[in-house]
Amino acid sequence: MNAEIACQAPCVENVGRPHCPRCGSVLHVAEQSAFNLNGGIRHDWVCDDCGEEFATSIRVLPLQA
Ligand SMILES: [Zn+2]
Repeated sequence: MNAEIACQAPCVENVGRPHCPRCGSVLHVAEQSAFNLNGGIRHDWVCDDCGEEFATSIRVLPLQA
């Protein structure tokens, strides 16, 4: 199985810990995680320091041809 990061704004350098796009603080725990029908996992984040809300997506299934 291919593991590929779908890089959306804000970009995540690695799978585990995104940086807040507003203040740059490292977030450790996603507020919410959900699978979507495109074979990805969406994580919703809320920054503890400034309250910025953003989401990241990780693609865990190969793209359909
Ligand atoms: Zn922040």
